[in-house]
Amino acid sequence: SRKFFVGGNWKMNGDFASVDGIILFLNQSGGNDQVDIVVAPPAPYLTHVKAALKNNIKVAAQNAYKVPKGAFTGEISPAMIKDLGLEWVILGHSERRHVFGESDALIAEKTVHALESGIKVIFCIGEKLEEREAGHTKDVNFRQLQAIVDKNVDWTNIVIAYEPVWAIGTGKTASPEQAQEVHEWIRQFLREKVSPAVADSTRIIYGGSVTAENAADLGKRADIDGFLVGGASLKPDFVKIINARL
Ligand code: 13P
Repeated sequence: SRKFFVGGNWKMNGDFASVDGIILFLNQSGGNDQVDIVVAPPAPYLTHVKAALKNNIKVAAQNAYKVPKGAFTGEISPAMIKDLGLEWVILGHSERRHVFGESDALIAEKTVHALESGIKVIFCIGEKLEEREAGHTKDVNFRQLQAIVDKNVDWTNIVIAYEPVWAIGTGKTASPEQAQEVHEWIRQFLREKVSPAVADSTRIIYGGSVTAENAADLGKRADIDGFLVGGASLKPDFVKIINARL
């Protein structure tokens, strides 16, 4: 069975004072052995958060480039993430795709490079509102996934985050039925395009306006293996989301 996975994506938020507040409630939470817990602070705070967190809570970077080093001003590499003693990176987040114009091809290259560098990947996909309304939800998510299927990646080190763009930061959470439907499609896609074993073992987590109120209901669905949480991961309610399946 698949271990529940809850990620907190802090995005470009925080300062030392608020970061220390988050560290405090996470350390007081006691963690949860049944759940893989990973938080992704902004890059300047990675070492500080890594050093302060207890309870086997892991730290992820929010992005990484496709080569180990060089003249790429403003970028960080998987080699650096590894050097900090971290295990995870988020790639393909909708804000990277739609605010910064990252293509499926670039995200696939970054994913391959991160995996080859020994960094695990939270691989984000999801359709925009107009794509859903035009009936393209399946095509868009399959196209985004196909980009890494084509690269023969090591699926044991990937978690897929389904984050419908219309649900991110909008308060319009996908209903448990809407999320489960897409998660089931994604698992079926893995079964057909990769293997039944990968389909059965890969965690598919949901992101988009997850709160302490809606997490339990979403987390009960057969193909929802956890969450990637934005806004609510900055608040003590995040602990309730971690424990949604208790
Ligand atoms: P919100 O939880 O703020 O909607 O953000 C979701 C998200 O983008 C997590 O990566």
